[in-house]
Amino acid sequence: DQVMIISESDVKSLLTLQDAIHLTEKAYSELNAAQSMIFPAVREEIKEYQGIFGIKSSYLIAKKYIGLKAGGFWLGNAAKGKMNHQSTMMLFDAESGEPLCALSANYLTAVRTGAAGAVAAKSLARKDSKIIGIIGAGTQARTQLEGLLATFPVEQVLIYGKTEGKEELLAKEIIEKGYSAAICPSPQELAGQSDIIVTTTPSYAPVLHTSWVKDGAHINAIGSDTRGKRELVIDRKPDKMVCDLWVQSSIMGEFQHGITREELYAEIGEIVNNNKKGRENEGEITLFDSTGLSVQDLEVASFVYEAFKSKFV
Ligand code: NAD
Repeated sequence: DQVMIISESDVKSLLTLQDAIHLTEKAYSELNAAQSMIFPAVREEIKEYQGIFGIKSSYLIAKKYIGLKAGGFWLGNAAKGKMNHQSTMMLFDAESGEPLCALSANYLTAVRTGAAGAVAAKSLARKDSKIIGIIGAGTQARTQLEGLLATFPVEQVLIYGKTEGKEELLAKEIIEKGYSAAICPSPQELAGQSDIIVTTTPSYAPVLHTSWVKDGAHINAIGSDTRGKRELVIDRKPDKMVCDLWVQSSIMGEFQHGITREELYAEIGEIVNNNKKGRENEGEITLFDSTGLSVQDLEVASFVYEAFKSKFV
């Protein structure tokens, strides 16, 4: 039998952000309840081509899927008109090991990461968050914003980036959607005004100090997903520091830079499962670090696979 191939355009036609939000919540919840397993991640540099190649895999116990995502981030791609992020997934039957499908996973990754930001902000940010500050204006910035625009009564988006033209383009897209948008001259200025701040850069040098944010603000730190990457200086300790998974966050995420397990408030699954509280008052500063979990990829990929089968097979 041939392995089914699900193309980028098929994934786009079968997956919505709302589906991804629901599936991401499920992925966080199941992992916290030991209903899924994450296997050790592989992450290697392809120095010659400014690439980072990784493999993340996991097992969804109840749904009987095993799967992996392979690919990563090639910093020089954008200059050649290609996306920096590149990934493909494979899904297998957990009972027999048979391959079920290969899926193009660039859009899938962006949507599931936008969903992760929305899920975390739903329980950690102020419900009346109106001003979103976004640092970085690339692929992930779009879906991060999409997730927050669908979840909060947003009035304005502030943008800070370092590639001239990119920030302007993002601002134009946001204005076309009916929101106000402005480019900030510095991340400090952006942080001082925003209710929710999202960092989505591939930076190895910090771009945001937590001491710059106002009381009651929430930060979604999305960009750091590899050893050495760093977007934050935690010079004012947030009241609640949360991550998707400590074993990843402390190695490849924002908490690899000197944050201890004791300082972590929770993994997001504990909050989704109501074992720990989300935001408790209007003044707390909260921080969520996303490194991206294989169980998110598998929840979404298996949903797309089942939808593809029922539509086309
Ligand atoms: P991209 O190349 O499309 O966009 C990156 C943006 O950041 C660009 O606009 C660039 O100008 C800007 N930027 C770079 N350095 C900056 C700096 N120092 N200050 C301000 N802006 C800066 O990249 P992308 O696909 O959006 O990915 C962004 C990051 O998110 C990468 O590190 C990627 O590995 C990571 N990522 C994380 C997850 C997750 O699950 N947490 C998922 C996918 C990607």
